[in-house]
Amino acid sequence: MQRKYNKISEEFFEKLKEIVGEKFIFKEYEIRWTYAFGGSIFNKDWIPDLIILPHEKRQISEILHFANKNKIPVIPRGSGTSLSSGPLTPYGGIVLDLNLMNKIIEIDIENNVVEVEPGVICDELNNILRPKGYFFPPDPGSSSVATIGGMVANNAGGIQAFKYGVTKNYVLYLEVVLPDGQILTLGSKVLKSVSSYNLKDLFIGSEGTLGVITKIGLRIRPLPKHRKLGIFIFQDVEDLQDAVMELRRQGIVPNLLEFMDKLLLKAVSEYLKGEFLDIPNGYVLLAETDGDLMKGVDETFALMFDIIIQKNPIYHKIAMNDEERERLILARKANLPALSRIRPNTCVEDCSIQVSDFAKVIKKIEEIPQKIKAKNLLVAIICHMEGNLHPTFLFNENDEDDVKDFEKAIDYLYKEIIMPVGGTITGEHGIGKIKTPYLKLEYSPGVIDLMSRIKKLFDPNMILNPGIGKGDTVYLKKNTRIRTLKNQTGQILEMKCMRCGFCISCPSKIDYMIEAYSPRGRLSILNGLVYGELELNDLINNILHTCSLCGLCQTKCPAGVKTIEIFEKAREIIHK
Ligand SMILES: Cc1cc2nc3c(=O)[nH]c(=O)nc-3n(C[C@H](O)[C@H](O)[C@H](O)COP(=O)(O)OP(=O)(O)OC[C@H]3O[C@@H](n4cnc5c(N)ncnc54)[C@H](O)[C@@H]3O)c2cc1C
Ligand code: SF4
Ligand code: SF4
Repeated sequence: MQRKYNKISEEFFEKLKEIVGEKFIFKEYEIRWTYAFGGSIFNKDWIPDLIILPHEKRQISEILHFANKNKIPVIPRGSGTSLSSGPLTPYGGIVLDLNLMNKIIEIDIENNVVEVEPGVICDELNNILRPKGYFFPPDPGSSSVATIGGMVANNAGGIQAFKYGVTKNYVLYLEVVLPDGQILTLGSKVLKSVSSYNLKDLFIGSEGTLGVITKIGLRIRPLPKHRKLGIFIFQDVEDLQDAVMELRRQGIVPNLLEFMDKLLLKAVSEYLKGEFLDIPNGYVLLAETDGDLMKGVDETFALMFDIIIQKNPIYHKIAMNDEERERLILARKANLPALSRIRPNTCVEDCSIQVSDFAKVIKKIEEIPQKIKAKNLLVAIICHMEGNLHPTFLFNENDEDDVKDFEKAIDYLYKEIIMPVGGTITGEHGIGKIKTPYLKLEYSPGVIDLMSRIKKLFDPNMILNPGIGKGDTVYLKKNTRIRTLKNQTGQILEMKCMRCGFCISCPSKIDYMIEAYSPRGRLSILNGLVYGELELNDLINNILHTCSLCGLCQTKCPAGVKTIEIFEKAREIIHK
């Protein structure tokens, strides 16, 4: 049975408008439509009822108090890059778009602490810290757009987690607003404190289900001055696992230790071309050491190199300068764009296992398409070598057979592969609105019940981000996502947009503030038009014509979406 919530009446709308002001509240269907898109599968039944852009905690407190009293769902949202549908809205409700709360409040170098609002973008924080010789280490692949609020809510990790850990290792304190409107500060500026239950940590990775994070105190670190990177290709995944196990046994801690499987290396080589076409196909291990003294970095790298070489890689290359390093790192960063050229959808799953099970798990994942007798679905595998795997399924979300195969594939992945080795169903992307049914495979009924009771303690009316398995055990309705193209003219939809959001900081988005006026938002509008789910009107015309065709989004798009061509063609068709 689905949860029941109240709809937002005209009277409710007027009340909420009073709280935030007319300019910061949106109820137009076309605008709400664009908030149903993010870095995961689109579901046409998940359109929010209202978009609100608050500026400060008092407004959030009043909105939550009102929504709680009237039983209306509230979904906090950063940049919408979640890969598990975290900020999407199966029950409708209010999306709290936190992008305007983007101030860096304080940088306290002496104490290695920064205080930020939740909408600050990860890379923007690091761009300010770098000249001061400091950094905030967690670096998700989406760091150019991910907000710190979204990173805390998901406990995001990244490619340097092997040495530097994940977001939770850096959060000192949080200011949160609870569903009843209370504003609390949890944690402390000091490095050690046991004066309360560890309430702050309950919010890290809570995926917006317990409260809205409105301020974050983060630990920062001095930037390492030197680093050295190598790429190693193995014929057998067992040898690669042995190399990693030996590094761990010898106490060597690379700052970066990343894996790519054979399908992925092939896709990346074909995408990047150049020297990558000369690399023999195999399993990739990218390994880097860093530190303050070049001598120390060289010595650790040499130790690491010797260990890896003893496991017989068929190819290796060491980056001799920054330029070569950037090229090798590009091979890792180009994973999703390279894959997005193979099939229209690239769905990145996320699970963790013990490294001692690595090779056998990788082999089983590679066999998934064959085991489930998939028609078109493929799987590629990206891993952070602390045991965090990202099997990435390639398919077409608008092909019924493909979608069924995708569902079978993730079922097989979690039930037949990850759970039997005692793994977890998510390492860094969260349960979101996809993995609730698998929670019971990982935890006993007692643990699931305890999570529900914790959720009810904070949020008795279940208004905060309902549908996320943490504390909400009601399964969501099956996705009715199969759609038929109705108005596909001029191949507008040949756009391969994977909705990553890397392009969202476009000049018109900055002026108009909302997703609809971002490149991703405009592509979502076009998506609605070609599927006949939106109709051309003045607002859509305005959204499409406020793009200045400056081309910035095209330079930022990792998937090579030809946005300018698409937007120009769309306007041409509209004018006809
Ligand atoms: C190409 C690509 C690569 C990625 N690589 C990585 C990676 O390497 N590592 C990784 O961990 N993740 C990765 N991600 C996933 C995602 O980018 C991260 O989880 C990121 O931290 C989400 O930030 P966001 O601002 O987009 O949050 P959103 O997607 O908007 O929200 C994420 C969740 O946080 C909640 N939330 C957001 N803000 C708040 C707030 N202020 N208070 C309470 N709850 C809030 C939302 O309700 C939602 O449940 C990747 C995504 C993409 C598209
Ligand atoms: S071309 Fe420029 S204005 Fe148009 S969507 Fe892209 S970044 Fe925005
Ligand atoms: S256009 Fe490119 S950058 Fe923008 S959301 Fe789509 S894939 Fe990402």
